[in-house]
Amino acid sequence: MFDKILIANRGEIALRVIRACREMGIASVAVHSTADSDAMHVRMADESICIGPPSSTDSYLSPAGIISACEITGAQAIHPGYGFLSENARFVQMVEDHDLTFIGPSAAHIRVMGDKISAKDTMKELGVPCVPGSEGGVPDVDAAKQIGRDFGYPVIIKATAGGGGRGMKVANSEDEMERAFQTARAEGKAAFGNDEVYIEKYLQKPRHIEIQIFGDGKGNAVHLGERDCSLQRRHQKVFEEAPAPCITPEERARIGKTCADAMAALGYSGAGTVEFLYEDGEFYFIEMNTRLQVEHPVTEAIFGVDLVREQIRVAEGNGLSFTQDDLQIDGHAIEVRINAEKLPNFTPCPGKISQYHAPGGLGVRMDSALYQGYSIPPYYDSLIGKLIVKGRDRTEALARLNRALSELIVDGVDTTIPLFHALLQEPAIHAGDYNIHWLEKWLATDP
Ligand code: ADP
Repeated sequence: MFDKILIANRGEIALRVIRACREMGIASVAVHSTADSDAMHVRMADESICIGPPSSTDSYLSPAGIISACEITGAQAIHPGYGFLSENARFVQMVEDHDLTFIGPSAAHIRVMGDKISAKDTMKELGVPCVPGSEGGVPDVDAAKQIGRDFGYPVIIKATAGGGGRGMKVANSEDEMERAFQTARAEGKAAFGNDEVYIEKYLQKPRHIEIQIFGDGKGNAVHLGERDCSLQRRHQKVFEEAPAPCITPEERARIGKTCADAMAALGYSGAGTVEFLYEDGEFYFIEMNTRLQVEHPVTEAIFGVDLVREQIRVAEGNGLSFTQDDLQIDGHAIEVRINAEKLPNFTPCPGKISQYHAPGGLGVRMDSALYQGYSIPPYYDSLIGKLIVKGRDRTEALARLNRALSELIVDGVDTTIPLFHALLQEPAIHAGDYNIHWLEKWLATDP
């Protein structure tokens, strides 16, 4: 059992992990940059340690700084949260080499899934359906054009190392191929140091449906249903819900079992998300995230489980605390991402919070590291809070979201709160009738 866990992250997710630790009687260590000395995660943890200057590269992304902080504080394990070093196989290896425990899957599983080509190959072998496309990497424009002809346009060119919506370009015809191919390649190289790309059929009206899985690292795995994350801007999620409005219990059981069986066969350990596009009743695997996701609370809400607690238990070498049969869905949950961004262009808007009031009441959860007087630094992600609501059904969840948003006050910076007020006026949102392109189209037409 761990006595002390270090959290290699900041913001709301650091708080999330500290809360789980406290409930389990485990001491927590926060790490922070000099820009985050006054941050809530530093105040809330049992101990804190400064690991570098504001730039993430020299602080939250510094393996040496984080491992030294473990040595100094006597923390036995590291929870990486999401982003930063959470999917860095080299870091995981370093952690293990220092006789520390990484709360997450093995370096080998992170490596396989971190490369989207090897992830697809692996999943295909395990019987998981994938988006039709190139067999592995595409070496040059001529090969890319041939694939365009074989599969028919439009196609999407994707960097194998891509993430966060970067390194993806659509080609609608052969004329657009050269440019799309070179741009995806250049973005992959610039952002991830890897210019290998592959090609997929570009689906016209899919939903983004992802399956939450959990493995014990000993050959057992379960699934916790799906999340619908189809409301996206620039391939980035802004509104997530569980269960998905369009999935039947039979479809959930089938795709869930496919994923859980694949993870069991891999011997996967900890939390993971298998992402699919879903169109005309078919699931197509796109990628796997080997970490806790931003949107995990909607799953926690409908299953009544604590996924961070489960991650820690599994990392301690315990089995899963639930079986597949224990996992029954109760109600409907929605999460909206509150970003410090100025509409309509979503430009980051750091600055000082002059007033903050979190909503409350039945079925409302606000995960945020904000407080009145806090200054949001300009160096990091613009996510400043997640509002999660749960209702007995989707209609009640939407009414609750509307009510909770009306209570939420974030003054001093611009935020995406008005976007959600506006979305709740839309019949398509109430009908649950939207696909991955809906939000972009709506944003382009809405005044
Ligand atoms: P990232 O790792 O950058 O998040 P993903 O592969 O998970 O990239 O894709 C992110 C989003 O991009 C998907 O949710 C979807 O909206 C869009 N996308 C990806 N692949 C396709 C495809 N083949 N057809 C249509 N849209 C796609």
